Order: sequence, then structure tokens, then C-alpha cells
Amino acid sequence: MAKPVKKERRYGKGSRRCLRCGTHVAVIQARGIMLCRRCFREVAHEMGFKKYM
Ligand SMILES: [Zn+2]
Repeated sequence: MAKPVKKERRYGKGSRRCLRCGTHVAVIQARGIMLCRRCFREVAHEMGFKKYM
């Protein structure tokens, strides 16, 4: 068997990964954040999104 090749994901869930933890679940792309919802909550106040605290 050929060794598994990591395909480059251009679209769909796998194309967007959280910059912080690497998950592709619930990644927020708005405003160029590119973080999953969990990491976003943790860094939101540092980024000035105080209303989400
Ligand atoms: Zn994350």
C-alpha cells in the first residue's frame, strides 16, 4: 500500500483550522480571526472583543 498522502484541503471543514489549537471544528473566520470558538473566547478580551466576556 502507498503511504497516506495528506491532501491539501481547499474547501470544507478541513480547509480552515484554528491557528491556536489546530481544530477544524467551529472555526471563526470573521474579521480574519481564524480561531475556533473555544480559543476565540479565551483571546477575545485580549483582542478587544469585550462584549463577549
Ligand atoms: Zn482553537
